[in-house]
Amino acid sequence: VILDDLTEALGADCVVTGDDTARWGRDWMGLSDWTPLCVVRPRDTAGVSAALRLCHDAGVAVVPVSGNTGLAGGTTAEGAVMLSLDRMNAVREIRAEARIAVVEAGVVLASLHEAAAAHGLSFPMTFGAKGSAMIGGMLATNAGGSNVLRYGNTRDLVLGLEAVLADGRVVDLMSALHKDNSGLNLRHLLIGSEGILGVITAAVLKLVPTPRAFATAMVAAPDLPGALRVLNGLQEATGGAVEAFEYMDRAFMDQYAHLHPQMQEPFAARHDVNILVEVGAHAPRDVAPGPDGQAPVAAYLEQVLADLLEEGAIVDAVVAQSDAQRAAFWARREAAAEVTMSRKPVVLCDIAVAVDLVATFLEAMQGRLALLDPEAVSANVSHLGDGNVHYAVWVSSRDAGLKAAITEAVEDEVLRLGGSFSAEHGVGTYKLGSMARRKDPVAIEMMMAVKRALDPKGILNPGKVIPS
Ligand SMILES: Cc1cc2nc3c(=O)[nH]c(=O)nc-3n(C[C@H](O)[C@H](O)[C@H](O)COP(=O)(O)OP(=O)(O)OC[C@H]3O[C@@H](n4cnc5c(N)ncnc54)[C@H](O)[C@@H]3O)c2cc1C
Repeated sequence: VILDDLTEALGADCVVTGDDTARWGRDWMGLSDWTPLCVVRPRDTAGVSAALRLCHDAGVAVVPVSGNTGLAGGTTAEGAVMLSLDRMNAVREIRAEARIAVVEAGVVLASLHEAAAAHGLSFPMTFGAKGSAMIGGMLATNAGGSNVLRYGNTRDLVLGLEAVLADGRVVDLMSALHKDNSGLNLRHLLIGSEGILGVITAAVLKLVPTPRAFATAMVAAPDLPGALRVLNGLQEATGGAVEAFEYMDRAFMDQYAHLHPQMQEPFAARHDVNILVEVGAHAPRDVAPGPDGQAPVAAYLEQVLADLLEEGAIVDAVVAQSDAQRAAFWARREAAAEVTMSRKPVVLCDIAVAVDLVATFLEAMQGRLALLDPEAVSANVSHLGDGNVHYAVWVSSRDAGLKAAITEAVEDEVLRLGGSFSAEHGVGTYKLGSMARRKDPVAIEMMMAVKRALDPKGILNPGKVIPS
């Protein structure tokens, strides 16, 4: 009956059924697959509202989906109606003077990058899935990525949003304001809620001036404290202009070289601590080439690296001399998901600790891993500048007990250091166990109370985020 009602209300071309739903029926990592009842693809907010009202009245579960690149199992939808935002993909407006973009939830992140670039501006959120991930999914997961160090998480880049609640009511929070203390901040409640409180349909996003020049380098340090000296030295020399500070360990570098033998290693020698660092410059004084043809921003980077090399805080450095070399440095980093998933079985963790405790976490894990699985190899790729480690362990067996023991060990160490077992990918279904074990029980009760208040029938993305 619900299929007929949805078809009547939205039109047959907005309701996908049968085999045609296959492309929405699995997660990006291939860890789960499912058969939805149908996929609804509304053209506008009114369509989203109509679909939700019908499903609410019928008590049918609805799973919002945007690019389906989430890494937490947040779109699993066996027997549910999937609500895809992909057709709502208009960049409605770029207001260059106000540095804002008004967009619909189905805009692909890379398309927003292009639209902003046409105005000489940037939307500074970026990550490996930018060609598929959409604004709605990005807001719903409060995505992080490689530039958080300078521009913050998604949350920090959103001025306003529009969402449809479980019963079909539309909440208009499409503010372009930097200041608005009129009551509880519902925008921040919806950002990062992974589709359990409402379906985000549009947003007002902050834009920033595009750096006119980048200076990018691969740096090898003897250890992570040495690497942090690069970060802090560069922040001081450039007034906080470090855009990205990304760590790749030896195992990661080796596996990338194995998968891409045509790509050269950045250094002649093999190093354990490899950092991709990028500085962005806006001011003409940092950008205009000097007599040697070099932009001053590149000279700052080279000077800081030369000083640290002399002090022994770093052991090698290669500054990109061309756009192609910069792109090659980034290609390695952006292959993180491909590299870590290329060996199976794998245990994947996405954790955060304070920036100066990343080394402590990794050392502690080395000891614990050796006891749990002596043949295991860990590969780390980390947004080191913000303390987020993607800790992958290639284990020696598919034994579920081993996976659970490693996850427990990671959580023990993370919580001992005051960190989080879920840094940027969210909870979805894959981290429900961690939530149940590790999250403050009062915080979980508060989440349940909010969920019950906004979605008393529990139809929106049921079984996600909050453990039952
Ligand atoms: C190669 C690769 C690299 C990645 N790198 C990063 C990274 O560096 N940093 C990072 O944070 N993430 C990263 N991710 C994870 C993922 O891309 C992000 O979480 C992204 O924001 C998800 O967007 P999406 O449109 O694909 O959302 P989806 O996967 O479609 O959905 C994700 C969650 O949000 C919900 N949802 C989707 N749309 C809406 C909506 N409109 N309203 C309400 N809820 C909604 C879904 O129900 C689900 O729970 C990466 C993923 C891949 C595959």
